[in-house]
Amino acid sequence: MLKNDLLDQWDRENFFHPSTHLAQHARGDSPSRVIKTASGVYIEDRDGHKLLDAFAGLYCVNAGYGRQEITDAIAAQAKELAYYHSYVGHGTEASITLSKMILDRAPANMSKVYFGLGGSDANETNIKLIWYYNNILGRPEKKKIISRWRGYHGSGLVTGSLTGLELFHKKFDLPLANVLHTQAPYYFRREDLGQSEAEFVAHCVTSLEEMIAREGADTIAAFIGEPVLGTGGIVPPPAGYWPAIQEVLKKHDILLVVDEVVTGFGRLGSMFGSDHYGLEADIITIAKGLTSAYAPLSGSIIGEKLWKVLEQGTDENGPIGHGWTYSAHPICAAAGVANLKVIEALDLMNNARDLGAYLKGALADALGDHPHVGDVRGEGLLCAVEFVKDKDDRIFFDTSEKIGPQISAALLAQSQVIARAMPQGDILGFAPPFCLTHAEADIVVAATVQAVGAVL
Ligand code: PLP
Repeated sequence: MLKNDLLDQWDRENFFHPSTHLAQHARGDSPSRVIKTASGVYIEDRDGHKLLDAFAGLYCVNAGYGRQEITDAIAAQAKELAYYHSYVGHGTEASITLSKMILDRAPANMSKVYFGLGGSDANETNIKLIWYYNNILGRPEKKKIISRWRGYHGSGLVTGSLTGLELFHKKFDLPLANVLHTQAPYYFRREDLGQSEAEFVAHCVTSLEEMIAREGADTIAAFIGEPVLGTGGIVPPPAGYWPAIQEVLKKHDILLVVDEVVTGFGRLGSMFGSDHYGLEADIITIAKGLTSAYAPLSGSIIGEKLWKVLEQGTDENGPIGHGWTYSAHPICAAAGVANLKVIEALDLMNNARDLGAYLKGALADALGDHPHVGDVRGEGLLCAVEFVKDKDDRIFFDTSEKIGPQISAALLAQSQVIARAMPQGDILGFAPPFCLTHAEADIVVAATVQAVGAVL
């Protein structure tokens, strides 16, 4: 067993952590956080501190930690066949079974699943396939992708461009050309406070239509969006937003990519966010909840309309020139099969819906009247508290005041509860594992009240 000091030193000297202040970490100004084990909604660090993880890692450990059914399936698959590729028609029982399980649960008119490793590469795949589709259809100019400000779709070259958060663009020369950002459906932060929700939706639609008119519909291939904005602040859409947006997209023959990396497999209390909001996607992106993060696996669920053109393309041009070594990795696929079985056998999706309503209600009851709480919102087991400097005059904190990070740090220090300070704005996010109990939700709420009281 390594001594803590040595492990900290190796960490500082060798490990490049994602989404981290690199200089501070290398200097040792920010602590190494070494997690050792986990069970249910709790993770435990190397010193034996138990922390209630109310964000399920990065909203991905939906089935909860330490599920033996999933770890046994991973071990059994690793013993039988740790790896074989899925190129040129190869597969394994696990990958074929998982593709069938996904399609059986997916919304109508979905045809095939392409497997990747994470949400970012799945969205890269989607954009490549959309470009291929338009080339096969003989319209090579129809290539631009519209995303939304505050959307999050990954941090690769194209996907970091699709992400509508400045932090992911700054100093990386992003966004790339061909990616456009339109109005976020964020009613609480609307510019015109006099707007009703319906007027704000009309404003979102007009902004989109103006962009399409400006660029030319024949240059725009697709629109990508999360059913509920996630990393950009956990923002459910205002009523009527999605039907109105879909109408515009259909009118201009623009494909819809629904990024369900967070919402897929039950987070909103429905199997997919697309079911929840009546979305008719051309491609659905899945990751996180597909395996509850027991192994890295993502997918692009391809709609019938696209699939037919992809087939036509390979008849005309030969095999599709797109593939990852680890696509449909058997160990990850086995984790996916076992995870979906656990979620369904234990009725965890319904628990997510019930506990989500309970948690949001309890947070609203406890904090709704606080002078610095501007909004308590959510959908399913995904909710957020947004802090404001002045509630009546709608004055927001400056990001540099780091109110969200201060409150999440207090929550951890005082109560050993993890909630996520969302990267932009002063928002605390909650997305616990689906197995959360009422008693655990009560702990989270009481701890949050205490942390808010300590900071504001
Ligand atoms: N899409 C959404 C909606 C996400 O929330 C994320 C990650 O949080 C991604 C894509 C990127 O997934 P990954 O981090 O697995 O690449």
